[in-house]
Amino acid sequence: AAKGGGRGRFRFFAPDLLKAAEDRRLLEEDLHDALEKGEIEVHYQPVVKAQTNVVTGVEALVRWNHPEHGMISPARFIPIAEESNLIKVIGEWVLRQACADAAAWPGNLRVAVNVSPVQFADESFPAIVASALASTGLDPDRLELEITEGVFLQEGCTTDARFNALKGLGVRLALDDFGTGYSSLAYLKTAPFDKIKIDQSFVRGATGADSRNRAIIAAIVALADALGMDTTAEGIESFDQFELMKQLKVTLVQGFIYSRPIPNAAFVDNIANGEWVIEPAGPARQRHE
Ligand code: C2E
Ligand code: MG
Ligand code: MG
Ligand code: MG
Repeated sequence: AAKGGGRGRFRFFAPDLLKAAEDRRLLEEDLHDALEKGEIEVHYQPVVKAQTNVVTGVEALVRWNHPEHGMISPARFIPIAEESNLIKVIGEWVLRQACADAAAWPGNLRVAVNVSPVQFADESFPAIVASALASTGLDPDRLELEITEGVFLQEGCTTDARFNALKGLGVRLALDDFGTGYSSLAYLKTAPFDKIKIDQSFVRGATGADSRNRAIIAAIVALADALGMDTTAEGIESFDQFELMKQLKVTLVQGFIYSRPIPNAAFVDNIANGEWVIEPAGPARQRHE
């Protein structure tokens, strides 16, 4: 009976698995020409100083507007792009678009671009970044590259040399999704990060009765301070969360409470009509305070 049940379960699950694999294959096929069909866009989410509500920059977040399926989340298509190596072309396109958009913004607004471990491991990555800066004229200090601990697991990537090459260009480096990966502290010891992004999962539970998430955020802030790094708390959805991040002395906050990611034109409008306040233009700032 057990054997029969096993066979029955197998027959029940197999079509689902096949369907998932088939859906993925079809998406990958569509992704191949999504760029040239103009289906890929970059949206921007403002990043705000916790103490003053001043907008200091944005995070660039890629969007795929699929003709049949509508907006497909990067959480779904980036892994497909990474497996098929398409991430290199898509990532480079996002980087160049973000630099071009940012170069036209007023003030010293920064743009943060997410970099896949696959891009980071590519030998030509620093040259691609240099080319994006040169062709757009963006001040390197206004470009921040967000990387995850995944870069340290990528094979064949001489991480130290890569970090040095990028820092040599004058760009800033942020460690994204901090606290969700592996042995983060060892990486902080050696890699030249300018900023730690505190993962949303810590923010989510931080305002409740359980004080553990607050303790973790406070510890990350203390660690970042001691290492001379800024902090950004992601996923701030409520006023309570915003206030708590302020109390915990997180440098910057980002989340739906302020704004969802929006197209460039809408971002530029919100700055131009004074809805969002930015720092006055002037000499490039040293670091956030
Ligand atoms: P991430 O880099 O950690 O980006 C933050 C994610 O949190 C974004 O999701 C953003 O829309 C979302 N978010 C921001 N504020 C809130 C909030 O208050 N509440 C909630 N629930 N979510 C919030 P998104 O745009 O779906 O991107 C998901 C992930 O996809 C990113 O996580 C990043 O890992 C990846 N990704 C996005 N754009 C790119 C890209 O251009 N290149 C690469 N390699 N990865 C990207
Ligand atoms: Mg990010
Ligand atoms: Mg993140
Ligand atoms: Mg993430």
